[in-house]
Amino acid sequence: MPLAMTVAPLPVLDAHDPASLDRAAAILREGGLVAVPTETVYGLAADAGNANAVAALYAAKGRPAFNPLIAHVDGLERALTLITLSDAALALAHAFWPGPLTLVSRRKESAAISDLAAAGLDTLAVRWPDAPAMTGLVARLGRPLAAPSANLSGTISPTTAAHVAEGLAGRITMVLDGGPCLVGVESTIIADTLEGLVLLRPGALPREAIEAVTGARLKGAGGKAAISAPGMLKSHYAPRARLRLNVTAPEADEIYLAFADHRGSGAKAVLHLSESGDLAEAAANLFSLMRKADQMGERIAVAPVPATGLGEAINDRLTRAAAPKDS
Ligand code: AMP
Ligand code: MG
Repeated sequence: MPLAMTVAPLPVLDAHDPASLDRAAAILREGGLVAVPTETVYGLAADAGNANAVAALYAAKGRPAFNPLIAHVDGLERALTLITLSDAALALAHAFWPGPLTLVSRRKESAAISDLAAAGLDTLAVRWPDAPAMTGLVARLGRPLAAPSANLSGTISPTTAAHVAEGLAGRITMVLDGGPCLVGVESTIIADTLEGLVLLRPGALPREAIEAVTGARLKGAGGKAAISAPGMLKSHYAPRARLRLNVTAPEADEIYLAFADHRGSGAKAVLHLSESGDLAEAAANLFSLMRKADQMGERIAVAPVPATGLGEAINDRLTRAAAPKDS
């Protein structure tokens, strides 16, 4: 008997065929994952409003942490249902969309985005790509698609359907083949902050092209630091309440985030990350339950969550939330 593991071949459909887009849209609507060509790189798309689908997306990529994802839209109108934009950022949107420009700005309350897709931030990255397959899928769903690059975390971004299959066969439902990506480099990311536009990530749209529109020199971020600096966009959502981790016996004034068999008897209130011990379900619930617990009390205790699979990212986020505040 051969011992080699076999991976089922990844279905490859023609991205130019409307019937393939219909099938892909049906998969996405049910919470599935589809790799989609864009002008920059192939993206791994999930319904951005479906936390379970987004949890499956992080799991498929093997991401050790919940990085916020870019929400892909099919026009400026849909972008403005998700975020607010300053006049300067709007000018960039008019000049460069559809195209390799991502705008990060304040997320609207009403945005059809799961907390997990935004990694608990109250900002959101949005892009209208010059990519008919991606925009066609968004139009079919009537919702934004969260889509990081369609590769395993830590590997090179894919620019062909074959690259996608090398990394993700057996982990996603299908890939739409649109041929090689024309640009092949990720989008340029600009944050729309109270202090003006800030370059968060250099990318396919050159700084000079942006400065030609704004008429001013673009500030650099120096990594991602600027976005969490005082007065600028808020950093990762950190609970106000004190957080204790790996707690099996919560105290009477604690809100307990329960997992599997740790059900938190004796706690002030219990919120279940996953009663069945399902890490994808726990990931999907994590950010919204942290917010809820924060509103319910001054102290939060969290059950032990195994550090395997998605549990690594869950523990990463919990550890950050429990760390003493910088002040
Ligand atoms: P990728 O996962 O390759 O699509 O890259 C997405 C990039 O967008 C990452 O570098 C993220 O850190 C960045 N990003 C997404 N959302 C935000 C946000 N709200 N604030 C700052 N950066 C963001
Ligand atoms: Mg990537």
